[in-house]
Amino acid sequence: MSDNSTLHPESLMMSYGYKPELSEGALKPPIFQTSTFVFRTAEEGKAFFEMATGQREPEPGEVPGLIYSRLNNPDVEVLEDRLKLWDGAEACAVFESGMSAITTTLLEFLSPGDVLLFSNPVYGGTDGFIKNTLTRFGIEVIGFHPAQQKDVGAMVQRSGKSDKVKMIFVETPANPTNTLIDIGACSRLAKELSSADRQVVLAVDNTYMGPLWQHPLKQGADLVLYSATKYIGGHSDVIAGACLGSTALITRVKKLRSSLGSMAGPWTGWLLLRSLETLKPRMETQARNAALVAAFLKKHPKVARVLYLGMIEDPAQQAIFKAQCLSAGAMVGFDVKGGEPEAFRFLNALRLVKLAVSLGSTESLAQHPASMTHAGVDPVEREKLGITGALVRLSVGIEHPEDLIADLEQALAKI
Ligand SMILES: *Cc1c(COP(=O)(O)O)cnc(C)c1O
Repeated sequence: MSDNSTLHPESLMMSYGYKPELSEGALKPPIFQTSTFVFRTAEEGKAFFEMATGQREPEPGEVPGLIYSRLNNPDVEVLEDRLKLWDGAEACAVFESGMSAITTTLLEFLSPGDVLLFSNPVYGGTDGFIKNTLTRFGIEVIGFHPAQQKDVGAMVQRSGKSDKVKMIFVETPANPTNTLIDIGACSRLAKELSSADRQVVLAVDNTYMGPLWQHPLKQGADLVLYSATKYIGGHSDVIAGACLGSTALITRVKKLRSSLGSMAGPWTGWLLLRSLETLKPRMETQARNAALVAAFLKKHPKVARVLYLGMIEDPAQQAIFKAQCLSAGAMVGFDVKGGEPEAFRFLNALRLVKLAVSLGSTESLAQHPASMTHAGVDPVEREKLGITGALVRLSVGIEHPEDLIADLEQALAKI
């Protein structure tokens, strides 16, 4: 039997972090559907609390025990251990949604008077929280477009607030245009803006690439965030989120998670453990199908433009892709010839592909960003970002590629 440290993550997804002998020999982790845990002695309960509240570190050989399911629960702890393997992270915190992972993390590292730098566009929920909620607490927010990424440093200098920047938040590839932000360059900027007593934290929302196709921590990010609702869950049947990074940073995130109560429950943990076993084969099949779908769309006379990471034309974007992406992924954007009426005719004619938001699941989904996921974005901003009425976003699933392409073909014929 090999040592765990020499095994690949996909070999560890079925067993890592779980001891059958602690659960009556059950091969799979039971669902620990309990709110609280019984201490053997009062002394043990006291010791668990000392460690959980950070009054002291565990002694050598001492394990922080289970207390209460808002703080820790076996299904969630095993899940956190397994999720760490894909990103090579020291620590992980799982949440009841992607939004709770993102909002808890932003709140932990930002205080009144701080400046947050963030890339545009970000997920609608994140965009609203940054612009409408964080600003209510005296946090200043400065957004930058992918086209401005080379000048962000100079932009911050000109604002005269470079000593106030506390966090950089990036989503790459951007949804729904697949535009890339250079994580390495953002990491260098974060280091430049840091001082001896102030670490500028770089957080990357890696939902679009899942844990397989991009590893932001290896590119210099401090934190990686996921909506685990997407590729990690992968079956469109659970909402969850995760934040990964160093033990020091994740300890802070978990502390606020306990206060806010945004912890995932045992059932969510158990579902995601089941999903993780097939993460790699699912994502690989999705990426293979997406390449075939994108090639089909590219040649179709009713398609004006395809936005797919396997078809980048801009040399600067291509260089970022080569440096930080391990796959072109399974998200394909495309403009039909025409505008919203033509896009709607296509969407209404789909049969196998379902008309729904969300992404990264076994089934293929199509949606219309301008009127759906990005309806809340200012229309002028939307045009600037290339989110036109003609744009359709596809999340490619694991169906037979011939069936997918046949469905797209018959729907395009309705335009
Ligand atoms: C879906 C999504 C989120 C939000 O996650 P939920 O699980 O729906 O709360 C955040 N970021 C990105 C990129 C997403 O796609």
